[in-house]
Amino acid sequence: RRRELAVPVRCSLSAAGLAAVAPILRDLKMKCDTPLPVLRHVADSMSADMRAGLATNGGSDLKMILSYVDSLPTGNELGLFYALDLGGTNFRVLRVQLGGKEERIIDTEFEQVSIPQELMYGTTEELFDFIVSGLARFVEKESTKFHLAEGSKREIGFTFSFPVKQTSIDSGILIKWTKGFAVSGTAGRDVVVCLNEALVRQGLDIRVSALVNDAVSTLAGAHYWDEDVKVAVILGTGTNACYVESIEAIPKLQGSAYGSGKTIINIEWGAFSTGLPLTEFDREMDNESINPGEQLFEKTISGMYLGEIVRRVLKKMAKASTLFGDSFPEKLSVPFSLRQISFIIEEYILNDWMVIHPCYHETETMTLSTPHLCTMQQDDSGDLDKVGLILSGTLGVKNSSLGARKIVQDICDTIVKRGSRLAGAGIVGILQKVEQDSIGQIFQKRTVVAMDGGLYEHYPQYRHYLKEAVAELLGVEVFKNVFIEHTKDGSGIGAALLAAANSKYFA
Ligand code: BGC
Ligand code: MG
Repeated sequence: RRRELAVPVRCSLSAAGLAAVAPILRDLKMKCDTPLPVLRHVADSMSADMRAGLATNGGSDLKMILSYVDSLPTGNELGLFYALDLGGTNFRVLRVQLGGKEERIIDTEFEQVSIPQELMYGTTEELFDFIVSGLARFVEKESTKFHLAEGSKREIGFTFSFPVKQTSIDSGILIKWTKGFAVSGTAGRDVVVCLNEALVRQGLDIRVSALVNDAVSTLAGAHYWDEDVKVAVILGTGTNACYVESIEAIPKLQGSAYGSGKTIINIEWGAFSTGLPLTEFDREMDNESINPGEQLFEKTISGMYLGEIVRRVLKKMAKASTLFGDSFPEKLSVPFSLRQISFIIEEYILNDWMVIHPCYHETETMTLSTPHLCTMQQDDSGDLDKVGLILSGTLGVKNSSLGARKIVQDICDTIVKRGSRLAGAGIVGILQKVEQDSIGQIFQKRTVVAMDGGLYEHYPQYRHYLKEAVAELLGVEVFKNVFIEHTKDGSGIGAALLAAANSKYFA
């Protein structure tokens, strides 16, 4: 008995070192497994929770927020419009000259500004002043290619990618921050009022004509080109979905009149929590997050969290075994920061997602995050060079063995597969809910799900597993009619289109 309790003798990675890892890996895989019955349960729960959220306010984890978007862009939109997209660690400004049915988008320009980290923890005024000053600089640069119609003034669609209780198409109250934001004084306030106040402070004359969630503006942008788009999903730093719903399927509206009989519902699916296969690593991460107990689906499937889950698995393994050699690499204990993710994502996008930038190798503050998982999973070289570089650069693991690198790849795959398959099950939950309400509306004709967000865009395995799960759940015949399509930058144009559709100056 005494011998069993003794501290294991550490040796360099060998059969013995790996032996201690095996049970942890086995247990992880078992707990992260998403066979068909698990997926089905998640999809069915998504449908049921959606219904509960539509029935009463507060009836479910899912807020099922009314977007006040009850007609989607038609193509007839005309004129110069702006969009402002505040989504995470960047904001984007865009202008577009809309030319109506024939000409559609005559010209468009955009700029992206990254938000200094302090502002994510600062005050509302600081954040909005920063955004408006970026917007003002952009507006100033408007060239003669763009024309403001006689008698009108500049209008803007504001994409605000956090949970907002809409009070009209151009007003809404922030319920809470997500994705690591902790700006003081915004929750409970109308974010359009916050924006307008900053516009006044800086003397910028522009009218906010639409306030929309990024999922909603993505749906609007994608629908502009393809009328079969019925659902939009964001898989980036955070995650969300929205869809076209019938007014009669929304009991909590209590018969309030709506013109078109349809409206877009912002599900806020990041808050979903039923039936998720979670592990000790997820629970620890949640406990230590700034919003414990909240956004559990988001924490299982979105870009902000996947890398952090893997880091926690590796930390446990490194403590229990000699996976990374005799001494425990201290950097394995450094938790992620959102700032860092945005920096990496930006750099990866600029330099091509797959190319490892030399500066990552020795950056002190860098720890493992989702873009690294992606790069490691693309490494198909015999000696897994890139995996080795990332382990050393982000976690301080020098000279990892090939065996250890393979295990790391396996863990990435396990966590990413679970996340993407659950996201797929969520999509099926939405589709089947709509189908149940009106048989044939979804499954018997072409239906498009518009996808956006860096995670979906840049992670091939994530995309693949997600589609595979949707196909498994729907079956081949139905899956033939469901098109899961990436809409790049639909959100910016979508917000401008919604500003146009709700313009004060164009009927
Ligand atoms: C927010 C959603 C948003 C999603 C994607 C989530 O954290 O709650 O409102 O749509 O991220 O950006
Ligand atoms: Mg975004």
